[in-house]
Amino acid sequence: MEELLHVRFLQLLALVSLLIFATAFVSQDPVQPQRPGPIAQPLASPTPTPTPLPPPTVRIDEYRAAAARIIGAALTSDRAYSRLAHLTDHIGNRLSGSKNLERAIEWALSEMKRDGLDNVRAEKVLVPHWVRGEESLAMLTPVPRKLTMLGLGNSVGTPAEGVTAEAVVVRNFGELERLGERARGKIVVYNAPFTTYGATVSYRSRGASQAARYGAVGALVRSITPVSLQTPHTGAMQYDPAQPRIPVAAITIETAELLQRMHDRGDRPTVRLKMEAKFMPDAESANVIAELKGSEKPDEIVLIGGHYDSWDVGQGAHDDGGGCIVAWEAARLLKELGLRPRRTIRVVLYTNEENGLRGGNAYRDAHREELAKHVLAIESDSGVYRPEGFGLAATAPLQVRANLREIAKLLSGIGSDRIAASGGGADIGPIMREGVVGASLDVDGSHYFDIHHTHADTLDKVNPQELALCVATMAAMAYVVADMSGSLK
Ligand SMILES: [Zn+2]
Repeated sequence: MEELLHVRFLQLLALVSLLIFATAFVSQDPVQPQRPGPIAQPLASPTPTPTPLPPPTVRIDEYRAAAARIIGAALTSDRAYSRLAHLTDHIGNRLSGSKNLERAIEWALSEMKRDGLDNVRAEKVLVPHWVRGEESLAMLTPVPRKLTMLGLGNSVGTPAEGVTAEAVVVRNFGELERLGERARGKIVVYNAPFTTYGATVSYRSRGASQAARYGAVGALVRSITPVSLQTPHTGAMQYDPAQPRIPVAAITIETAELLQRMHDRGDRPTVRLKMEAKFMPDAESANVIAELKGSEKPDEIVLIGGHYDSWDVGQGAHDDGGGCIVAWEAARLLKELGLRPRRTIRVVLYTNEENGLRGGNAYRDAHREELAKHVLAIESDSGVYRPEGFGLAATAPLQVRANLREIAKLLSGIGSDRIAASGGGADIGPIMREGVVGASLDVDGSHYFDIHHTHADTLDKVNPQELALCVATMAAMAYVVADMSGSLK
């Protein structure tokens, strides 16, 4: 205890000095904080010293038996896989505003009630309703051929006859800038090779408006993926309100490289893009919520969830049907095992992550009063591959990090005991910004972006054993956090 206080005192000291330092830094020049100045100078080459963690306050010996039961039950049940099979094969993909998403919501509500979960309910959310319609891309010269494409979500459509123009190819925004006015009247093709999702996705989200700045009439974006078997990847794009809205579609790596070669040789290829894409009026949808009510502190909440909507291609199996099933099945399994924790475990299947994030925002607004009682929020939205552990928000209190690391030791036998330095998720982002501690279920990410947002995100890509391991990992972590006698922070 003595030592604990000492460590806490040191942390407090470190935090206070950091705050003083940060305040000096910000007040020095609030407009251009990066500009090097006499005061900012010492920050120029910061060497981060790893902060020692306080001792954990959770006693995991009390949970070894429960963790073993949870893991055993998850690995011997086919419920998660059979439910994901129903969702993908019998309902299918679930774009916001679609009949499929509404059917999926109805099904989850009735099944969750059958599972005996508590407070099963739908919380209404108005969602954008974008529809793809018919779409196509063709090369007209120098060699007529069909090209594989997939319109980007939120894009406008083309006139019925399509947009026909020369395709000019750039590898990055810098090349576009150098092209400048020569892009006028053309279709700009972005052939940016995948580095990381976070870095490369800006061509998908901002590429159309950047091209429109120079007068382009359309844009084509190399799919945000490291590999391709002629697989186009859709995903959300946003328009800059200051620029004209031009249609934009994803093309495959193969097509992007073909156009690049032709462009480099001076072939000046012409293409015709046709898209019927448009927005309908907002549609009614809902976040699906179910709970395992806490036995002693029911008003304290451990939130687990994923997003229930998907793109309108493939089956939304890994993204994010699987993540939803993991959270749902974790709660159902605990219920079946008679493991009712002290605090409430709340499952949230968010609507409209992909093209609006209205579900995550609506949850924050509807639950503002109880956000302070959210002990932890875990999102599962990286596919349901072999779990490696959890990514905990970099800003999480050190005591939370120490406790999660300790609890994760219960998962070392199945290899999902890592607590990574950062984590979170799109759907829990709004409540994290209000102070809720967030984490992600981390999985082996080596193949996620091969199929992400494609026709190939289907059930056959899901390994039932890996899915079961995800359920075990989520259920054990959520259970111990919800049940520990002391506080997590
Ligand atoms: Zn997702």
